[in-house]
Amino acid sequence: MSEGSMRAMVLAEAREPLRLARLPVPEPGPGQVLVRVRACGVCRTDLHVVDGELPDPKLPLIPGHEVVGHVAACGREVERFAEGRRIGIPWLGWTCGACRFCEAGRENLCENARFTGYTLDGGYGDFALVDQRYAFPIHGDYADAEAAPLLCAGLIGYRSLRMAGEAERLGLYGFGAAAHIVAQVARYQGRQVFAFVRPGDEEAKAFARGLGAVWAGDSGEAPPEELDAAIIFAPVGALVPAALRAVAPGGTVVCAGIHMSDIPAFPYEILWRERTVRSVANLTRRDGEEFLALAPRAGVETTVEPMPLAEANAALARLREGRLRGAAVLTMDAAA
Ligand SMILES: [Zn+2]
Ligand SMILES: [Zn+2]
Repeated sequence: MSEGSMRAMVLAEAREPLRLARLPVPEPGPGQVLVRVRACGVCRTDLHVVDGELPDPKLPLIPGHEVVGHVAACGREVERFAEGRRIGIPWLGWTCGACRFCEAGRENLCENARFTGYTLDGGYGDFALVDQRYAFPIHGDYADAEAAPLLCAGLIGYRSLRMAGEAERLGLYGFGAAAHIVAQVARYQGRQVFAFVRPGDEEAKAFARGLGAVWAGDSGEAPPEELDAAIIFAPVGALVPAALRAVAPGGTVVCAGIHMSDIPAFPYEILWRERTVRSVANLTRRDGEEFLALAPRAGVETTVEPMPLAEANAALARLREGRLRGAAVLTMDAAA
């Protein structure tokens, strides 16, 4: 790599493939840290950005918001991290601190928030900038690629799990990167996990059972017992009525994704008796700190498929087609 330049996979226009580009390495401004990226997870949200399903991305854009790397340089007024420290960059990249949501401690709903790999450049490249206040130290002895999915799949999954309340019998719809982490946390917390996968995906059922699910079945199937709560990770609106039918009175259905196809009409009786449907949006820094400390304690292990940076389009295609076990992670080995 020539001095002062970096490789990145760049989105010029939604619905176009990413292109490998050589760009100048950015300079950290006041309060910013320059990260030498080692690994960046590929999240379903990246797919929604690339596919034009989320409005107004920064363009051109470097996607990626599950970023693990080392501090390469610090701007002025950076005191949280020293050079060489391993840190992670999550989806929440900046908040205003002044709107009514920020003031109420709900920065995940900030009206002016900026998001890594969407309205800020992210981690599909050799270097990334982050506001030091939104980066996290990475604990535990996870390899860089293994730590990457913790930063969104794990973190948003953890927030979704909290929103599911005290549920003992927990359904997970869509057994990909997020569910494979949440299942382990749920089990650590003494819950029973029921996994729902694409009809006929026997490999996904076996994967879920291997991670401790007490039952794994097709997404349209009724579980053997009524659930106390369900989390929907697949971006499929038709799963909302299916999950409502599977939860007991008083149960909650949590929609964990940023985008979902339309939810079909359903009879009121499946919502009646105090069932709740809710979404989960983004994360707070508190979620991040809690979850990243909990993951190694709970023995969370991630299943990853490392792929070279230049294969980002192939990684996105495999995620789109549901052909992944666990999480795809781009790695920044020096050879392009
Ligand atoms: Zn705000
Ligand atoms: Zn994500």
